[in-house]
Amino acid sequence: MRRIYLLISLLCLCAMSTMAVGVKHGSAKTLVDSCGFFPQMTPDGQWLLYSPTEGTSLQLKNLYTGQVTTVASKGYPGFDAILSDDGKVYYVTQQARKRNLLYREGHCYDPSTGRDRVVLKAQRGRVQPLHSTGGGVVINGERQRYLSNKQAGAYCYTSGDALYVVDEAGNSRTLRPVKDSNGYLWASLSPDGKRVLFEAAGRGLYVCSLDGQILADLGQFLMPCWYNNYYIIAMSNAGNTRTNGSRIWLLSVDGEVCKPISPQGERAVQPCVAGNKVVYTLLYSGEVRQLELDAPAAEGRKVLPIDGKTEKVKREGGKWDVPRVFINPGHGGHDSDDRHVPTWVIGEQDTLHYYESNSNLTKGLALVEILGNKGYETAISRTTNFTEDDLDLFEIVSLAANSGADIFFSIHSNATGIDKRINFPLGLFRGWDGKPAVEGSLKLSDLVMKYAVKNALTVWTHPERSRGDWSFYDWGYKVGLGVLRFNKLPGFLSEGSFHDYLPERERLLNDSYCWLEAWNQSLGIDEYFGLHKAHKQGVIAGTVRWSNETRADEDRRLFGEDELQPVNGAMLRLYNDRGALCRIYTLDNRDNGVFVFTDLPAEKYRLELYYDDQLVEKVKVKVKKNQVTYRNFKM
Ligand SMILES: [Zn+2]
Repeated sequence: MRRIYLLISLLCLCAMSTMAVGVKHGSAKTLVDSCGFFPQMTPDGQWLLYSPTEGTSLQLKNLYTGQVTTVASKGYPGFDAILSDDGKVYYVTQQARKRNLLYREGHCYDPSTGRDRVVLKAQRGRVQPLHSTGGGVVINGERQRYLSNKQAGAYCYTSGDALYVVDEAGNSRTLRPVKDSNGYLWASLSPDGKRVLFEAAGRGLYVCSLDGQILADLGQFLMPCWYNNYYIIAMSNAGNTRTNGSRIWLLSVDGEVCKPISPQGERAVQPCVAGNKVVYTLLYSGEVRQLELDAPAAEGRKVLPIDGKTEKVKREGGKWDVPRVFINPGHGGHDSDDRHVPTWVIGEQDTLHYYESNSNLTKGLALVEILGNKGYETAISRTTNFTEDDLDLFEIVSLAANSGADIFFSIHSNATGIDKRINFPLGLFRGWDGKPAVEGSLKLSDLVMKYAVKNALTVWTHPERSRGDWSFYDWGYKVGLGVLRFNKLPGFLSEGSFHDYLPERERLLNDSYCWLEAWNQSLGIDEYFGLHKAHKQGVIAGTVRWSNETRADEDRRLFGEDELQPVNGAMLRLYNDRGALCRIYTLDNRDNGVFVFTDLPAEKYRLELYYDDQLVEKVKVKVKKNQVTYRNFKM
């Protein structure tokens, strides 16, 4: 549904909507045959900037001569670079320094001289190039920013759940125009500088005034840009799966015009505007296409003299050497792309519905809390579980980039999809087996998997694995997982265990078990950042099973100790070394037998197991710093 808010400020523009606007007949053409992602072109049509598949380099094509120049090929300069109207390339490189913390540095490349300059020294956090209304460019860092011209004009940007508008004098205003957004993306000022165009992740595309009042709700579109003060170009939001493909659309701010302009079936993404031309990419091939519109484009921005300056950015609190983690709990809402397994649970005498979207979120929120307690900074792509939380993969990747994180971490569980049961932790990173596309991804995956497989509450059928998604899936050359595409943070997708293995699914219905998976993930993340000795608390975890009763499930595909029926409703009492009762944990009735004691000081404990108020067993347990002590019981 599209709600339109007509304000007086828009009325004067409405006369334009009576004109039939469309693509100039015969104007469609190909500018680059393949691997031309995130294209941008100068309004005069001379320069085309694009990134090959992995963001590992930046290419600049002179469309007058056909010559292609590699602007940069170190530090993942691709994807978020921008081209100023006079053909200069502003881009950011990233570099892992001590303890795998990322630093980002701003560059400017001038094709007329071939000269590349560092214009913003390396700093922590988010550093992104932006256009400003005056025809200038701002490389916007959290600590320092570079303005290509002293009169660079106004600009806006997004980070997390806020949208920032910075006026010509450098005064910043924070807007949160949409309620319950997962984060703001792709903000830009209209050519006349009077309105802000942005997407609220999972909620839609909007135009608001400079003080955050919504002027238009344009529907489900992504990566928008202004064509002129009245028309907007955007790509359709095809949701998580993108199976229907997407197209480039022409929208008007009053909602009168809303039509696709790219051909059906092309899977067109990443649009940009250059004068009266619209340039975009085809999702898999990376072929760059161009169309011309018959509406008058915005007047070209005047090219300003380069008299750049660097300025300090005010930032409240926070330490710069704290690792930052972007967390993406997979799926959202109980929809077709979620994975649902209803299960008859003896203990509850009922059918419990397992959804992967639920346990992914439980693990993700637990990881936010655990890492927060360990002193990390985190950002997360969703905190609730509704259909609108199932973000488009471009939204997730862009939220991660805006977070300025050091690593990207996607949380899922696995299923065979066939009539066979297995159970092991699997890390999938972008790249070939043993050769990650982004440095650090394999190391991070290996470390997280190393701790995941130590989980002694479950029964693993195979050792842990870290695989490259290009090798793992046969979906086409370098296709792999959508959420890892266009992502240049070191990172991977964790398939923590197999939820179609019945005993595992019942464990995943237990929030403590999900918490334990997140805790084990935090241990791998700690080690990646060299912080595994920095934390003092430990964990005790285990299961309680009957020694002489086999599982009552109809499904007999069980492994090892999972042959035994878990105990429901037993109680664990934990006493410290001085004999004081510190914690009590009562097992749930969901046939998983799981218990977990979190955040314990590293010392000796006595653990007592009770069933029907009878002491069954007592054992001594030692908790070590930043480790899990496993203790399984059979009774
Ligand atoms: Zn999943």
